Formats: sequence, structure tokens, C-alpha cells
Amino acid sequence: MSDPQAAPVAVLGGTFDPVHYGHLRPAIELLEALGLSQIRLVPGHVPPHRPQPRLGAQARARLLETAVAGIPGLAVDRCELDRSGPSYTVDTLAGLRCRLGGHRPLCFIMGRDAFRGLMQWHQWEALTRQAHLVVMTRGGDAEALPPALVEWMRPRRMHDPAALRRSPSGGVLFQAVSRLEISATGIRRCLALGRSAQGLMPDVVWHELASSGCYGYPQVSRASSPG
Ligand code: ATP
Repeated sequence: MSDPQAAPVAVLGGTFDPVHYGHLRPAIELLEALGLSQIRLVPGHVPPHRPQPRLGAQARARLLETAVAGIPGLAVDRCELDRSGPSYTVDTLAGLRCRLGGHRPLCFIMGRDAFRGLMQWHQWEALTRQAHLVVMTRGGDAEALPPALVEWMRPRRMHDPAALRRSPSGGVLFQAVSRLEISATGIRRCLALGRSAQGLMPDVVWHELASSGCYGYPQVSRASSPG
């Protein structure tokens, strides 16, 4: 049987279209602040809540793998790419729960913006049966949460990261992370205008991206790219 006090495993889903420091830095902060054993970054295949990504799923996953190589505690989980149809978080968490066993604490990480819309997610109430929810807050979060969500959250609210280890699932924890004004939307816009996105993601990712000519950025041959 797994140890109920074992360090939690966490999932950070996203489209990662493309991955950037706004994904990596908060993940590293959460690993440390919450004492997580690992954060599994799960690129979505067919995101149900938003327009289709620009870059194909395999290419997004490859860039993500390049980005996390050498960062202890971060790993890419391709489980959503192996399923056809919409990538529902509840299915992803159920799959991981099966692999981890029933006792290991599991966390699902989401931004506060996404959390505001939680009640529109597929089988949203089942999410906390599989995992704790860790809601990343960034200074300046202003928009109020829907009253029904606040009411639902009240008995589940955790105020201490140590509480995540005491049960496998069921809690909601708010955790502050650094606000980095980087978004994949901004990066795609920049690239489409032929402007560099270097510095917004690890250099090794940038060189891979620039040499592939994706997002409308003029293709830069690897031989001519520095480093
Ligand atoms: P897009 O601009 O295409 O909507 P994005 O940059 O927000 O994409 P996603 O792949 O949608 O990236 O995000 C995955 C996760 O990373 C989400 O939980 C999101 O809240 C979080 N995230 C994205 N950008 C940042 C950032 N700058 N700081 C902290 N968290 C972020």
C-alpha cells in the first residue's frame, strides 16, 4: 500500500502552445513551496475549453520535453495525447489515480482564472474525488469568484500546504506564485509578426522553435542560430 504521508504528485495541464517561463517558473515555485515530489506537465490533445492550438500536439509535447529536461521534479506526461477525443481533466486525473493507487496525495494545479470557471468543466465535482485543487494566485488577481463556487469551496478549503499530505484528494489550496507577464498568446502574436520570443522560454526551446519556422516566424537554420 502506498504511504499516505508521501509527498504529493501534481499535474499541470495546459496547451503549452508554446511552453514558456510563465509555465516553468511557477511550477518550480510550487514544487518547493508545497513539497511536491513531482509536477507532471500534461499537454492537452484536444482542449475542450478553448480554440484549437496552433501547433500540433506532438510538436508541443516535444518542445515541452526540451524545456523540462534538466529541471529536477518536472516531467512531461503524454497521457492525453494517447487518448482520442476531448482531453477532459477528470479522465486524466482518474488515469493517474489508477497508476498512483488510492492513497498517494495527488494535486491538480490551475490558474485562478481557470478556477473561476470551474463549474463549467466536464464533471467538475468529480475532480476533487481524484485530487486536491491547487489554485495559483498572482498579485493583482481582481475578479471575484462566483458565489456558488465560494460556497462549494468553503468546507474543502485548506490553508496549509502540509494538509495536502494528510489525504489523497478533496482539498482546495490557494498558493501565490510570481506574476510573469508572459503568455503563449503574446508569444504567438510576436512570432507571427516576425519578432523574436527569445528570453521568454529556455534558449534551447527558442532555437528549436525558430529553426522549425512555426507560428509564422521566418525559419532560422540551426547552423546560423547562436549556441
Ligand atoms: P494561451 O496564451 O495560449 O492561453 P498560456 O500561456 O496561458 O496560453 P496555457 O498552456 O493555457 O498557457 O497554461 C497552462 C497553465 O499555465 C495554466 O494553468 C495557466 O494558468 C498557467 N500559466 C500560463 N501562463 C502563466 C504565467 N505567466 N504565470 C503563471 N501561470 C501561467
